[in-house]
Amino acid sequence: MIRTVHIARYVLAEAGMLHRNAAVHISDPGRITRLEPWQSPPPNLQTKVIDWGSAIILPGLVNAHSHLELSRWKRRAGGPGTFTVWLQDLIGERRKWSREDFLESVREGALLSLSAGTTLVGDISTAGVSGEALKTEKLRKVVFEEVLSFAPDQADDCLAGLRRRLQRTECDSLLNSGVSPHAPYSVSPRLYREVAELARAMGLRLATHVAESREELEFLARGTGDLRSFLTGLDAWQAGWVAPGMPPVPYLDGLGCLEQPAILVHCNYLDEDSMALVLSRSCSIVYCPRSHAFFGHDPHPVRRLLDMGINVAIGTDSLASNDSLSILDEMRFLFRTRKDLKCDEILRMATLNGAVALDFGNVLGRLRRGCWADMTILRLPDGINDRHVLSQVLEGAGEYLATVVQGEIVWSSLPVP
Ligand SMILES: [Zn+2]
Repeated sequence: MIRTVHIARYVLAEAGMLHRNAAVHISDPGRITRLEPWQSPPPNLQTKVIDWGSAIILPGLVNAHSHLELSRWKRRAGGPGTFTVWLQDLIGERRKWSREDFLESVREGALLSLSAGTTLVGDISTAGVSGEALKTEKLRKVVFEEVLSFAPDQADDCLAGLRRRLQRTECDSLLNSGVSPHAPYSVSPRLYREVAELARAMGLRLATHVAESREELEFLARGTGDLRSFLTGLDAWQAGWVAPGMPPVPYLDGLGCLEQPAILVHCNYLDEDSMALVLSRSCSIVYCPRSHAFFGHDPHPVRRLLDMGINVAIGTDSLASNDSLSILDEMRFLFRTRKDLKCDEILRMATLNGAVALDFGNVLGRLRRGCWADMTILRLPDGINDRHVLSQVLEGAGEYLATVVQGEIVWSSLPVP
């Protein structure tokens, strides 16, 4: 059996486990068989050695929340104004796009992701084309089929459409499906309940946007504010809807959405009781740092969430509210702006926590025996201080050199060795 060995000056197997001059051994099916100090292999072994030189091998970076289908939008709407103005711009833009536009946009997003070292993505599919567009891309992905409808009498049709999309998707070792009811202000309680039930029955991850804005809190507390006007403007307001009079997390819990380890995206505004509920339900939170900053939200409660033991992953959200699809850029942004986060915590959020959120916690997120060989490799400049390698990377040292998914080099800035 041919084995591949990737060697580099540094291998950061997981937070706190830095190896110098180390080798990652990979078996044929793309699993890591061992990690050890580098020494030449015995000559009788069929081994392909790839020496990355002055580089660091990291566990593959995980983008736990993206909308690759919006990769071509690139913030054409300019600054956000208010959240609802941004939403309206987004809806207007989407209406101009054809199916082909969405397909191309997803593929562009996949390439941008791979070239930024991302190996696994949790991608929201609103247009229903992401599964098809990503099927042949060598990026590992969970495609969350999204549903949106605030009208309870449309719930059956939405659910039937969702089932069709799930059936159509041929999952494989790099493609899994999930479901995503969009948000508490855009999905009827009935649809939320039924999608949650479907997710449990099919064993699928559920991801939903939660507690993203102050407007959402007001809408659920009293049924008033910008989001009420937004729905009225779209002719989507439901006269029979009664505000639950509670924050978003307990509201979704009451609809059965938290009965599985759901992915709660954003959670920019959470009270202590909501955080305790997220923890008790073993749900994950995805924090999208630069998208959060784009909208000018209050400081994110990420420190408190980590201290409580909640699994917090990182996402880029879409290029409609971000400058790049790079998780490394998110990590560097956090390093600059969140002095209350340790380097190891930032790495963990970008790797293992994302893998856990997307249900790959046992096989991804770390470089260890038995895990899939998904790796992000960065070229390092000369003069790196041996003792603080990760903090120097977060300060800006290192460029994308290669992205490895399941043992295969799927992107490299060099001709593939
Ligand atoms: Zn989103």
